Amino acid sequence: MISVKKNNLHISLAIEADLINTSTSAFDLNALKKSILWQLAVVYNRKTGRYILNISFNLKILSRVSHCTPNKVLFQIVDSVPGNNPAEADFKGLRIKLNKNHVPDIIANKNIRTIPHEIGHLLGWEHPHANAQFQSVNLSAHPLEQQLSEEERQRNLMSQSWYAQKAGIPLNQAMELSENQIELLFLKEHHISLNKNRHLNYFLWWKKIV
Ligand SMILES: [Zn+2]
Repeated sequence: MISVKKNNLHISLAIEADLINTSTSAFDLNALKKSILWQLAVVYNRKTGRYILNISFNLKILSRVSHCTPNKVLFQIVDSVPGNNPAEADFKGLRIKLNKNHVPDIIANKNIRTIPHEIGHLLGWEHPHANAQFQSVNLSAHPLEQQLSEEERQRNLMSQSWYAQKAGIPLNQAMELSENQIELLFLKEHHISLNKNRHLNYFLWWKKIV
């Protein structure tokens, strides 16, 4: 489902995911898939500090809920997300609900930040800042995340959009990752945060999805 391999400074991420639309609107899912893959490549196929990231993302378009694979990541287009936010990750990011009102912007690559941000949660990263507090540190995040400087926080992929906006940083320039975050990925053994999701058996999964 998700694998993180480290070879010296080379980090290879491999993620398997499904994509389904359970909203009441129709979308070109092939176009959405193309945008998702491109947006992830922009962030996760590049040098981050001394690390060289590489992502392999396998995304399968589904037409029926019954075809979902519980141990894959699921992108699910839904009619609404609280606060009309573009997306919401639950089950530690295993399911990423996409707000249908924002899907056209994602397809058009006008919104290129939401998808990589949500995948960041899947990789175990928290918002580096506190809730609704500008120039703050998230004290419940890992110490490695708390060490980001204010300047790093303002340009960081894992900060919420309002944080970059409040700092006057265009969202497409607020997509950085820090070496600390990459190191956290190893520290958590990447799997640990994801292993918590092993309880996502069929029953819980189906109960929550429909
Ligand atoms: Zn977030």
